[in-house]
Amino acid sequence: MRLILLGPPGSGKGTQAQRLVHKHGIVQLSTGEMLRAAVAAGTPVGLQAKEIMANGGLVPDEVVVGIIADRIEQPDAKKGFILDGFPRTVPQAEALDDLLKRKHLKLDAVVELRVNESALLERVEKRAEETRARGEEVRLDDTPEVLTKRLAQYRSMTEPLIHYYSERRKLLTVDGMMTIEHVTREINRILAAIGALEPKGHEEPAKAANKAAKRPAKKTAKAAKKAAKGAKKAAKGAKKATKPAPKAAKGAGRGASKARTARSTARGVSARKGAKAAKKPAKKVTKKRAKR
Ligand code: AMP
Repeated sequence: MRLILLGPPGSGKGTQAQRLVHKHGIVQLSTGEMLRAAVAAGTPVGLQAKEIMANGGLVPDEVVVGIIADRIEQPDAKKGFILDGFPRTVPQAEALDDLLKRKHLKLDAVVELRVNESALLERVEKRAEETRARGEEVRLDDTPEVLTKRLAQYRSMTEPLIHYYSERRKLLTVDGMMTIEHVTREINRILAAIGALEPKGHEEPAKAANKAAKRPAKKTAKAAKKAAKGAKKAAKGAKKATKPAPKAAKGAGRGASKARTARSTARGVSARKGAKAAKKPAKKVTKKRAKR
């Protein structure tokens, strides 16, 4: 799975990226972290980035694109990655498109964490406090003054990416004002709906989505069988047996509508196919049981 997390500073990209890493076993590629490490190590890139970062500016596109191009090559990124803080400009997004195309890799989705700007200052102050409490060094750019600049940068340079990825049907927007837990759940739900999660081995996303969509229908078919067994009269039994089955169809319908929501903002062909497939077995069971 290859993902981009998009959102202003303090929107929770880092936190959510770590949770996705933990759950799906892919790596988090944070250009901010890499640049901070370069600054700390005093590398040429670090020396170039230090002042810019301290002032809340953006490091030149070619520098970050170079960092990402090298990082994607590493063996631990082969299984997939979450880009956190990259791309931040349209030229960076275009460079990433080229990079992935050359390597025959596909981007699954861009998850935008949408937050109220008014909450961001509070969040960043909290982050600084927590860092201090852990005895770690607070980021130089986590101050109200620099945050204001970083937000302005986000609006002018990064926000156009929302349109960029929306046009390419890759954008999925999540309400980033919910609790951390809720945001994680929502991200996982929409990723499953578009078939981006690979639950077993290296299945094609479309196959995985179909399987996932079929699963609940199978379960309810079993429930229908049980209900039919317990019935005394054939007619009664048939009636009982049909009860859980429409539920299954309903469930599949709900799945279909959720899949459609995801599809409206991202490529969702596989999710649509999956939802259709989910409806089929449930209906068949209904008919069979009713006949008996
Ligand atoms: P972050 O940790 O993502 O908030 O990034 C911290 C700082 O690193 C930013 O304010 C920028 O100065 C720099 N930076 C990180 N990622 C990028 C990027 N993709 N393009 C340009 N500058 C970046």
